[in-house]
Amino acid sequence: MDENIKKANKIIIENVKKSLLKNRFNCEVFENKEELSGYIIKTVGEGKKIGLGGSVSIKEIGVLDKLSKTNEIFTHKPEMSPDERRRVWLNAIDSDFYLASPQAVTCDGKLIFVDGTGNRCAALTWGPKHILLVAGVNKIVKNEEEGLRRARNIAAIRNNIRLNKKNPCVITGKCEDCQSEERICNILTVLWKKPKITDITVLLLNEELGY
Ligand code: SF4
Repeated sequence: MDENIKKANKIIIENVKKSLLKNRFNCEVFENKEELSGYIIKTVGEGKKIGLGGSVSIKEIGVLDKLSKTNEIFTHKPEMSPDERRRVWLNAIDSDFYLASPQAVTCDGKLIFVDGTGNRCAALTWGPKHILLVAGVNKIVKNEEEGLRRARNIAAIRNNIRLNKKNPCVITGKCEDCQSEERICNILTVLWKKPKITDITVLLLNEELGY
C-alpha cells in the first residue's frame, strides 16, 4: 500500500480505536499481518479451545495452521451433518477464545455483523471467555447505516460468490433483499458497546483484509 495512504489510514484507525475504547472494547492497532498474527498466537497461547466464526480475514492472516498445532479448533466443515455442526457450534460458544471478523466497524466504535445461520452472532454476545475480532482498514465506515450497506452490498456479495450461492446479488452486483432459500443475510448483530461480561478485543490492521 502507498505510504501516504497508509499514513492517512493510520489517523482514521487511531480515531476508531478511541471510539472503540470509549465503548469499552479493548483495541490494538497493527501495521502488518505478521505483527497481527504474532499478537494472536501469543495471546491465545497453548492448550486452549478456539471457536471460529467462518472468517476470510482470519484465514488471510495465516494463524490457523500454527494455532491448530497446540490448540483445539472448533469450526464447521461442508461435509458435516447437521448434528455435527450443532456440536461444533456449541463447543465454539463454550471456547476460551473466539476468533471472528465484523463486516463493518463504524467511526463511532460500533461493530456490525450479518449472519445466515447465526452461530457467530450467538457467540459474539455471550459464551466465549475471550473474543478477538480482526478488521482491516477496508471495514471502517462512517456509521451504522453505511455499515449495513457495506455488509449487504460488498461483503455479502463476495461471500455469496465464495460459497457458490445463486442469490440475485451475484448477478446484479447489489443486495436485492431476496426471498431466496439460500439467502445468507438473515440475522443482524450490532455491538453498540461491549456486552457486560464478554471480553472483546478488536484488532485493527492498517492494511486491507477479508471481505
Ligand atoms: S440479495 Fe439476498 S443473499 Fe444477496 S446480499 Fe441481499 S439479502 Fe443477502
